[in-house]
Amino acid sequence: MFFKVRDLNSKTSVDYIIVGQGLAGSCLALQLIKENKRILVIDQFDEHSATQAAAGLFNPVTGRVMSKTWKADTLFPYLHDFYREAEALTGSKFFHSMPLYRPFLSIEEQNEWMGKSAQQDFKDYIASVDTHEAHAGLVKNPFGGLTLRQAGWLDTAAFSQAVRQYILKHELLLNDTFDEDLLVLKDEEIQYRNYSAHKIIFCQGVKALTGKLFSWIPIRPLKGETLTIQTDVKIDTLYNRGVFVVPETGKVGATYQPNDQQPTVTEAARNELKSKLDELVCFPYRIITQSWGIRPTTPDRRPILGPHPEHPNAIFFNGLGTKGVSLAPYFSKVLAAWIENKGAINKEVDIERYKHYNYGGNIPR
Ligand SMILES: Cc1cc2nc3c(=O)[nH]c(=O)nc-3n(C[C@H](O)[C@H](O)[C@H](O)COP(=O)(O)OP(=O)(O)OC[C@H]3O[C@@H](n4cnc5c(N)ncnc54)[C@H](O)[C@@H]3O)c2cc1C
Repeated sequence: MFFKVRDLNSKTSVDYIIVGQGLAGSCLALQLIKENKRILVIDQFDEHSATQAAAGLFNPVTGRVMSKTWKADTLFPYLHDFYREAEALTGSKFFHSMPLYRPFLSIEEQNEWMGKSAQQDFKDYIASVDTHEAHAGLVKNPFGGLTLRQAGWLDTAAFSQAVRQYILKHELLLNDTFDEDLLVLKDEEIQYRNYSAHKIIFCQGVKALTGKLFSWIPIRPLKGETLTIQTDVKIDTLYNRGVFVVPETGKVGATYQPNDQQPTVTEAARNELKSKLDELVCFPYRIITQSWGIRPTTPDRRPILGPHPEHPNAIFFNGLGTKGVSLAPYFSKVLAAWIENKGAINKEVDIERYKHYNYGGNIPR
């Protein structure tokens, strides 16, 4: 098996402490367990954390102009292996690899994708370009549509719950709010309450902004809302145009509300999602619930990894933004390798690039 199972009795000395157990903390925990490290995870469950709120889609071709996502050739093959192995380790089901269908809006768009499908760059991701109504009766697709492979969805809440159960059984978990005032950072080790460790890794999502050590990092909160619908129609494909519809969970989303920090759902978001859903699907549905969460995005849309400029034992893993499901597996591997002195952090994601960003401390050079 990929991950090593090891039983731990309660100990106060661990290799690493991880603060936060969303997608970032969960993936990093699995990587360190794989390295046979002893870990303590401290997480206060929050039903509105990005990981709990997420729909969990992973899609290698995205954006307004529909291009291959950043590092898709590296991230996508790896995420499939990673989540499947995590399922085997935890004995749970949360990973759903399935095609994603995007209806065309015009003949021009259909022609454009006929051309792109011949390009080497897209060959691993395009399953078919349909010129007929391939999903008639389910979605509005008079000009056909594009079917992508290597896509799917992760049940992010089930994934983090499965990892939590695994940590509870084999490692150490504190279901508590981490209190930064109780943290003692020394050169050779760090201490927190009655625990000591070599390093502490902060995977707090947007709550990084409320702490002291890393609040200077420009994490930009981006609120999103989703609807959950019920329908009698059987869906076995992800539909995505304006909004996405996830089979099984019935999640529809998501909005992007950069100027809204209200800790509540809004009527405007409900109307926006409903109107976009009506443009996409033909089947009848009922809206069951609406929920919200806040994504931890960054100015350059890249994750942020690495040590605090003055406290090298305090490490940051954040900025997964809108694509946590595809970014977290690979970049947790990069970070775990770096922590263990087995690899480097890629420049594009290195915390170094933000070290002068509103940082008031004396940075050693
Ligand atoms: C509506 C919505 C839809 C989304 N859809 C998708 C999608 O389809 N596909 C995709 O890839 N991504 C999606 N995302 C983005 C994705 O959810 C995020 O990229 C990802 O979940 C971020 O994970 P994280 O671990 O960095 O942060 P979080 O999920 O916020 O996790 C941080 C954890 O740390 C805990 N924590 C923080 N501070 C403390 C403390 N002091 N003490 C104890 N615990 C603490 C929090 O309670 C939380 O449990 C979506 C996000 C939203 C909001």
